[in-house]
Amino acid sequence: MQLFYDPDLKSGIHALRDEEARHAFQVLRKRVGDVLDLVDGRGGWFSAEVKAISKRECLLDVTELRREVSRAGHRTTLLVAPTKNIDRFEWILEKATEIGVDRIQPILTHHSERKRIRLDRLNRILESAMKQSLRAWLPELGELLPLQQALEETHLNDLRLLAYLGEKETPLLRNNYQRGDNVSIAVGPEGGFSPEEAALAQSLDYGFVSLGPNRLRTETAAIAAVHTIEQLNW
Ligand code: SAM
Repeated sequence: MQLFYDPDLKSGIHALRDEEARHAFQVLRKRVGDVLDLVDGRGGWFSAEVKAISKRECLLDVTELRREVSRAGHRTTLLVAPTKNIDRFEWILEKATEIGVDRIQPILTHHSERKRIRLDRLNRILESAMKQSLRAWLPELGELLPLQQALEETHLNDLRLLAYLGEKETPLLRNNYQRGDNVSIAVGPEGGFSPEEAALAQSLDYGFVSLGPNRLRTETAAIAAVHTIEQLNW
């Protein structure tokens, strides 16, 4: 199945957004009469017949099939420091979307080596991962925020967790999370969270959790955390 994405979809005649229209015509060689499967990134699933198609536009007759009211019964937010090598950060976004994250909040920390990100490019990676994994929900991507602001802006009712290395008695994430919990989980940069940042997080009700006995790279820790949470909800 090949999914198309357009945030403005509705039933009736609709011009598919530019990039997707070009892809449909030039790469997938869709022609008049072909039927496409589409999502709007907000839980809507659609089917559409191609009515006209060229290099410049793709006109569809769209039918809404169903709407998922909530994504999965719980909400997972990943707060993560962008890695120095942007490819690794893009990998986090792609894999976290495939597994089922709802929101990604990039954070700027004491040891952060990357201080800028390009949201437009990163959003395209999320869109592509959403389609690839046959999802109808596009994760939200926040602007890069200083750690303190990101921690303070955490949803009020979320379970607040910080993946932390260094204390043997830190409980495992899987033992601190229960199916259905809305959760915000923070993962640090290559240099880790500073002791001051860890103390700040604790003062904002973030509890420390372990992802196992080994020191994982930021991208591995982020995906291990999201996978543990989503798997407990499958
Ligand atoms: N030198 C850093 C330190 O000792 O904190 C290493 C940081 S690690 C490469 C990057 C981030 O991944 C950490 O800040 C933490 O959030 C997370 N992390 C990696 N392995 C982990 C583990 N076994 N348990 C919990 N968090 C982990």
